[in-house]
Amino acid sequence: MNRKKNMTLKEIAVIGGGVVGSSTAFNLALNGHKVTLIDPKPSELNNSNGIRSGTNASLGVLMGNIFGRSKGRSWHLRQRSMELWPKWIEQLSTNNNLLELKKPLLKIASTNDEKIKLQELCKDKAHLGLKFIENDIELNIKSLFPNFKYGGLISSLDGRIQPSSLMKSLIISLEKLKVNKINKKVLSLNRLSQSSIKKWKINLEQNHTLIMDYVIICSSLNSQSIIKTVGYEYSMEPILGQAIEITINNNISLVNLPSVINFNGVNLIPNGKNKMLVGATLEPGEKANEEQLKKMKSLYGNAPKWLQNAQIKQQWYGIRARPQKQPAPILENLEPGLIINTGHYRNGILLAPACAEWVTKQIS
Ligand SMILES: Cc1cc2nc3c(=O)[nH]c(=O)nc-3n(C[C@H](O)[C@H](O)[C@H](O)COP(=O)(O)OP(=O)(O)OC[C@H]3O[C@@H](n4cnc5c(N)ncnc54)[C@H](O)[C@@H]3O)c2cc1C
Repeated sequence: MNRKKNMTLKEIAVIGGGVVGSSTAFNLALNGHKVTLIDPKPSELNNSNGIRSGTNASLGVLMGNIFGRSKGRSWHLRQRSMELWPKWIEQLSTNNNLLELKKPLLKIASTNDEKIKLQELCKDKAHLGLKFIENDIELNIKSLFPNFKYGGLISSLDGRIQPSSLMKSLIISLEKLKVNKINKKVLSLNRLSQSSIKKWKINLEQNHTLIMDYVIICSSLNSQSIIKTVGYEYSMEPILGQAIEITINNNISLVNLPSVINFNGVNLIPNGKNKMLVGATLEPGEKANEEQLKKMKSLYGNAPKWLQNAQIKQQWYGIRARPQKQPAPILENLEPGLIINTGHYRNGILLAPACAEWVTKQIS
């Protein structure tokens, strides 16, 4: 990895080591900055309540091209991320941990109205690899979904990246780029002004402090309390997502399937010979509801028999931070030396590269 030369080196702290903070730290370090990543438990799978962080719960679906709009910030971030992902995958892959964007993604229409909408989307975005399919000629779909009567949209460039492999690669790359890591919780911030140069004091647990040129806040829901200590109010609500790993009957073939199948908002991800990942439901709060999980597994009453009968082998929950008064994500340059990059809600994995690039541009 080549660090860019001849830049003014900035000392930057990134608060939060989920996919958003780690990606931001990676891109900043790659661009020659001196970066410290602060997170008390970046790689811990479950917290004491058995709930995972957004990144550890995620399914890693990149749905960048299937999007109703063709302008605005959300669209541009999606497009930029889909451009960056192949390059990032190349940069982040190591011999022992090869990353891959597994394509394509199939969105099945569940009603005639949805079919019409998806067909229109395919016309608008054919140049981005979107194509409507009426039947199962190319894919082993009809045998799995006998009620696949309205057809579906194949997005040839969307797909999935395995989140735990991604995080492993990011951690290795951060080490190679000599990113300093501090496993402590950030409690508050202070502005320090000496003549015209502004610096930031970061107060960590155990009376530890750091002085930095820049602070980038990427700590999901906890960003609210940190940023409040320097006078900013942001409100985000926790939205729970549930996911399961199921094993299915050996007679069902998962061969030659798209890497992601989306039906009624539920993602189905073939994961080996007779395994599948299924997620995610949307529930306000931080407590998992068994009824919602059942509804998700039944694809809201549309599940084929093999899915109804599938055994749940693993089950987990994770929290997504949804901004309440503005669209996700919260991506703002607040004042010299202070940037917030959080509240990615459903698309943190998808949007991580574009948001990291945006942050780096603010500083460079
Ligand atoms: C079930 C489920 C499925 C999902 N599927 C997808 C998907 O398919 N595709 C997709 O793009 N997105 C998906 N998402 C959403 C995605 O996971 C999130 O948008 C993303 O992980 C958010 O990343 P993050 O780094 O902002 O937050 P997190 O991963 O929650 O990381 C925040 C980090 O901040 C740290 N932190 C908190 N407080 C402090 C503090 N005071 N000081 C220092 N550090 C602190 C935490 O320890 C944590 O490590 C899914 C989410 C769920 C729950």
